[in-house]
Amino acid sequence: MACPRCGSESREGAAYCDACGEPLAGGAPRTVSPPDGLMGLMALDWTLRSVLAGVLGIIGAILVAATGNWQYVPLFLAISAVGWGILIFIYLNAS
Ligand SMILES: [Zn+2]
Repeated sequence: MACPRCGSESREGAAYCDACGEPLAGGAPRTVSPPDGLMGLMALDWTLRSVLAGVLGIIGAILVAATGNWQYVPLFLAISAVGWGILIFIYLNAS
């Protein structure tokens, strides 16, 4: 597809222009099927969010434990568990 910014041809289905890095997902609706593109973006977004929640939950739990705030450890572990849970849900439904 042609990049809307610099006009160079990029790989079909590429998220970003190879030449200038311009995001291509919303730039060429004629060549990207809107439902597929949208679902792909949402799935990626949720994967990133759940990984972020899973990792930050563990880091947060370690930090509050290290500073003696043990009452907050279950809260961060719960955030982490939700994150990994969503990630597992995404992967189970991906195939
Ligand atoms: Zn470009």
